[in-house]
Amino acid sequence: MINSLLHTSIEYLKGVGPKRADVLKSELNIFRYRDLLNHFPFRYVDRTQTILIKNILESTDNVQLLVKIIDVKELGQPRKKRLVVTASDESGSIQLVWFRGVKWLKSAVKVGEYYVVFGKPTVYGNRINFNHPEIELEEKNKNKAGSLQPVYHSTEKLAAFGLHSKGLENLMRNLLPQVMNVIPLTLSKRIEQKNNFPNVNSAYSNIHFPQDKIALQKSILRLKYEELFFLQLGMTRQKINTRKKSKGYIFNKVGNNFNDFFNNHLPFELTNAQKRVVKEIRKDLGSGMHMNRLLQGDVGSGKTLVAVLTILLAIDNGFQACLMAPTEILANQHFKTILNFLKPLGIKISLLTGSVKKADRKVIHESLENGSLNILVGTHALIEDKVKFKNLGISIIDEQHRFGVAQRAKLWKKNNFPPHVLVMTATPIPRTLAMTFYGDLEVSVIDELPPGRKPINTIHRFDSSRLKVFQFIEDEIKKGHQVYIVYPLIEESEKLDYKDLMDGYESIVRRFPLPHYKVSIVHGKMKPEAKDYEMSQFVKGQTQIMVATTVIEVGVDVPNASLMIIESAEKFGLSQLHQLRGRVGRGAEKSYCILMSGYKLSKEAKIRLETMVRTNDGFEISEQDLKIRGPGDVMGTQQSGVLDFKLANLARDGQLVQLAKIDVDELLNMDPHLSSSDNQSINTELLRQIKLKPNWSNIS
Ligand code: ADP
Ligand code: MG
Repeated sequence: MINSLLHTSIEYLKGVGPKRADVLKSELNIFRYRDLLNHFPFRYVDRTQTILIKNILESTDNVQLLVKIIDVKELGQPRKKRLVVTASDESGSIQLVWFRGVKWLKSAVKVGEYYVVFGKPTVYGNRINFNHPEIELEEKNKNKAGSLQPVYHSTEKLAAFGLHSKGLENLMRNLLPQVMNVIPLTLSKRIEQKNNFPNVNSAYSNIHFPQDKIALQKSILRLKYEELFFLQLGMTRQKINTRKKSKGYIFNKVGNNFNDFFNNHLPFELTNAQKRVVKEIRKDLGSGMHMNRLLQGDVGSGKTLVAVLTILLAIDNGFQACLMAPTEILANQHFKTILNFLKPLGIKISLLTGSVKKADRKVIHESLENGSLNILVGTHALIEDKVKFKNLGISIIDEQHRFGVAQRAKLWKKNNFPPHVLVMTATPIPRTLAMTFYGDLEVSVIDELPPGRKPINTIHRFDSSRLKVFQFIEDEIKKGHQVYIVYPLIEESEKLDYKDLMDGYESIVRRFPLPHYKVSIVHGKMKPEAKDYEMSQFVKGQTQIMVATTVIEVGVDVPNASLMIIESAEKFGLSQLHQLRGRVGRGAEKSYCILMSGYKLSKEAKIRLETMVRTNDGFEISEQDLKIRGPGDVMGTQQSGVLDFKLANLARDGQLVQLAKIDVDELLNMDPHLSSSDNQSINTELLRQIKLKPNWSNIS
């Protein structure tokens, strides 16, 4: 009964009718009463906030004026008509110009009347112009309490049907009183009280027609919170359900391999963060439930060692383990590192990549199937159908951003029982996003770098300082250190980028000639063997300079490299810059990162470079990235639909995300089935939303 009113077709609302209903549907997706109710204002006109014309400066952003119309003129050729309106207040006069909607505006704007004008001024000499400002008749005797007037998104087509912002406002004034007492409750009384939220009626009423600023803020806060709360509630319940369903192998033994390695062969003391994370993983693995854990740790935080310890747990409990990396170079490196770590233990480990020969592959396949091989490290080659394990206990996936979700799922199916999964990522995902997205993944964070690391000194230089930069390279090499020089490679401008890379390489070789210097080069067009050869020369210290594209972005570990130069740094995204910088500062030496760029920088590029210079903290960088790009781009488009909030903004509302998370956890602790009477409203609303967003279940 209650919901049926909100479900009424918008056509039947007073002031709508079939024609306007059609435009509301096509332009704003407003089909029913409920949709209109949720069409929130994007701004409010505050009558108390107008400024005088004489105070408009060129730099001002949008301003609001209260002006009297002096003159209305239609100018220009018949097909290129424009409306020029002169208006003034006590301090001066301005011109308002429209190129669209001329006919309608000409009849609507009356000389001698007072209007509120909102827009961005442009100043020519002492003339002030507004192009396409918003304009609205000043209503006299307006009572002060209602001085915040809603402004709604509209479109030209809607305006043609009289549904500009003011028209939509009128509809809202018809709708609200009708539905006011039938808007279903969403949150529980307890949560409303705990957070001091206005009730749902008051929230809707005040977001459309605010009583005052405080009531408005509280209403927006409540409605934003609701969006975040229900998304997290849905995800968390799903996590609990899947966990309940899927049992996993039990690794309850800490055996000889683990102990021997831990006590006798650890190359260094674990950091506290590493210890904590290993403990978290051990707890999962001993619980009898399937583990699905994300391990986040900034570049260089020592995730590999955590992976090795986890692998040993699996082996000690009679299982095999695999580790998958996104590139051949990285797989190679992991293979060598792990081989090196585990040499003393007599554990069998192999490497499987696209370039492993057929005969060798066969051996690997066989030893995997008969169980004599303990660890398989590799690239995507691991998930080919031919690869069958005897008893795979855990899959570790490095640098998760490079892998599609589907591929991950494939790995899980390698056995009758799904192996535990540990996904490691060095791209710190902003906490707010991680909380929202990985509601169904457990998250461990290594938030501490191994001791002795000095922050990388980051400097921004323009191309014109190249000679000085070359000198700096020379100085570092003289100290016995190594240097990376990275060029961008962007698909759309691939040819040009390769040319830049090769030109750069040539000028480096000219400046740093044989036999004194040796320069390596690695890029995507080279054969894998050639790439590996060049890379290994650099790793061994045979070459001092590595010129490369972003193929070295992830994982490569050469502690002796102390200088990273990033060419055309303005072309890189923030997280990529951070990844690249993380290739240095891995040894005990003071390290540097020089960001080279041209003089012409977009506003965003400037922010990116400044952020890099300011901080080494991956989490801070990822928060900044989220602010610049928005959550959809940060997470990939496949998931952005779920983040279509009307009000909430993950980049700005971090604290609210946190609050909602705490409340969700507390709620599910107290009432896991949402069966108490106070929680009925939550349960009903959750079910309604799940129906609307079937893609929830596909996330992560
Ligand atoms: P990432 O998290 O980026 O994968 P790595 O596992 O490659 O980092 O570790 C970075 C470097 O730090 C490696 O050279 C590794 O040997 C070293 N390392 C890891 N853990 C520690 C530790 N606890 N103390 C000192 N050095 C460590
Ligand atoms: Mg790594």
